[in-house]
This record gives sequence, C-alpha cells and structure tokens, in this order.
Amino acid sequence: MTSPAEHVVRAHRALAAAGQGDLVWGHAGLRDGDDRGVWTKASGWGFEEITTERVVLVAPDGAVLAGEGPRHVEYPIHTEVLRARPDLGAVVHTHPRAATAFAALDVPLRALDHDGVLFSEPDVPRFGGTGGLIRTPELGAAVAAALGDARALLLPRHGVVAVGATVAEAVVHAVLLDRACRTQLRAMAAGELRGWSDAAECAAKRTECWSPTQIDAGWRYLLRRAGVPHDPTEEKP
Ligand SMILES: [Zn+2]
Repeated sequence: MTSPAEHVVRAHRALAAAGQGDLVWGHAGLRDGDDRGVWTKASGWGFEEITTERVVLVAPDGAVLAGEGPRHVEYPIHTEVLRARPDLGAVVHTHPRAATAFAALDVPLRALDHDGVLFSEPDVPRFGGTGGLIRTPELGAAVAAALGDARALLLPRHGVVAVGATVAEAVVHAVLLDRACRTQLRAMAAGELRGWSDAAECAAKRTECWSPTQIDAGWRYLLRRAGVPHDPTEEKP
C-alpha cells in the first residue's frame, strides 16, 4: 500500500520530469484519508528533491499535523479546493511558463490539439481575483469557486490549479493544460487561428483520447522519466 507521503513524492517527481518546476515554488497535494487536511511537500525544496521526509500534512487552519519542515504559504489552494470538491483526491498548483503567458492574452483557450479538448468547450476558467499569493482560506475558497467543476483553472499573473480524483490525474491535467497553452501561443504568434475542435469534437475526443487508461499511461511515462517505481496496485490515494 502506497503511503500518502509516497504519493506526494511521486506527484512532485512526475511534475519535475514534465518541466513544471519553478525553483522551489509550486506544490501538489493529496487529500488525507481521515479528512484532516492535505498531504503536500514542505517548502524550500524543488520538485525533484522531494522525499518522504520532505512531506507534511497541513490542516485547513494551516497547522502542520505530521512531517518535518515548514508548510507552503499557499496551502489554502489545496484545503479549500478539496473542501469544495468532494469528488477530488488531489490538487496541483504550479507556475508553468506557457500557461501563465497564455493567461495574459485573456482569450479563450481553443482545442488546437488533443490536449486542448480537456480545457475547452467550456473554456478553462480564470481566477478573477488577486495575482498575488493565495495565502488565506478566504482566498482559497475564492479560487475553489472560480474553479467550479472544471479540471483546471488559470490564475492570471500567477500560475495554474489542476485537479483530479488521483494524484496521477491532477498531475497529468497540469501538464496537458500547459501544453495546450503552449500550442496556442505558438499558433497565435504565427498568425490568426482558423480551426479548432468544436463542442461536439471536444466531447468526443475527451472520451477517445483521454480515457482513464490514457491518463494513466501518461502518468506512468512521467514516473519512468523521473526514475520513480510504479506499482499498478497502488494508484488510488
Ligand atoms: Zn503560486
């Protein structure tokens, strides 16, 4: 049985392998099985540096209930999104370059490739509040409200939030969102957009391209790239 700390290590190693690191900032969080809060990385470490000794359990009020080391200031992103979405097991918050640059354009995200169908029709939501740190439960609740029932949220002037039933799903959603944004940035830099998937094609491709099996295949690839062992019996948090 994979421990919560081991799930958190895998999430961060996979994010590192996908290029989502931002020096020591950003974090993935896993819902605590006893509803005490979120398991996430301690602050001060890069994604590829995370070991089970650098994982903490943080309560919704910010108290560190288990593990060594300080918590991240933006822990309320995890605790408040998980509070608002009982369907979720994991939340990722990163500062990926393409998604952040794309958010500055303030244009709809179009499904220009397979990745984009997860975040288009309906358009990926944007947080309309601060571009600063999400450092209070009130701001975390506002982020959760902006996310709604979506897979991901753009935080203009800041980064992204991506969610999933498992750490695998949340990590892959974060990676795919940044790739979809990068594709559109490249296309818009070259000229006017002329073609993208409509609502019907997006819906069909969400099933065709992004079944749980495919999400899992992408996750396993990232774990192999990161050199982290994978046990197929241990996927659910
Ligand atoms: Zn942040």
